[in-house]
Amino acid sequence: MRRTRPVVAIDGPAGAGKTTVTRRVAERLGYTLVDTGALYRTVALAATRAGLSWADTAAVGELALGLAGRGAIRFDASPGGGGHVLLDGEDVSAAIRTQQVAEGASQVSAIPAVREALLELQRQAGRDGGVVLEGRDIGTVVFPDAEAKFFLTASTAVRAERRFVELRDKGAPADLARVTEEVRARDERDTMRPIAPLRQAEDAVLVDSSELDIEQVVERIVGHALGVAERLAQSSS
Ligand code: C5P
Repeated sequence: MRRTRPVVAIDGPAGAGKTTVTRRVAERLGYTLVDTGALYRTVALAATRAGLSWADTAAVGELALGLAGRGAIRFDASPGGGGHVLLDGEDVSAAIRTQQVAEGASQVSAIPAVREALLELQRQAGRDGGVVLEGRDIGTVVFPDAEAKFFLTASTAVRAERRFVELRDKGAPADLARVTEEVRARDERDTMRPIAPLRQAEDAVLVDSSELDIEQVVERIVGHALGVAERLAQSSS
């Protein structure tokens, strides 16, 4: 299907500033924001609630397929519901933001049946364009035909430092060496998994935020996306 407005895909590792950048980019473009990590987090939460271990790949896979099959995981489509995720009608947006659920999401996202279960949901959310999707495999798997793709990254040291400051500001005890190790472990799991590994799509624009502030990153992405949007609008009129 030809879209009149682009699908904007923003992929990259944890700690590159993706969440903040994606939100600002969506606001600036006036597009809908789709946080796909929230879906994996919701599966991890549902598994815990069902008394399942995240390592139980068969049971968690079956759970995810069941939840997706009966439409139990949804983005809140109501006005002002932007970005909220519902699990069986319950808004779990706050419950999925814990470090523990993030760890679970990283584990369950390596299960092929979980990825399969969430694929259609993501495609539906972006189908008509005018959306910014944040994830790990949007430009490679979910929307290989996305009109504007970005791979947002930063050095391991910079990402670990940001995470360390974030934890410290929250009053959580943090140790830079340990945080660096966690960032490395998560990267390795995300890039080495056999299914939908984290990698830059060939046609994605690489944005390294190591030496840029949020505003500069947002400017770069918005500038490029607007150019793409303009060309699409012209070719469809
Ligand atoms: O981005 P966020 O931290 O919410 O993602 C949680 C986890 O979900 C990540 O560690 C990653 O392993 C997984 N994920 C994924 N594919 C996506 C989005 C997130 O595998 N498109």
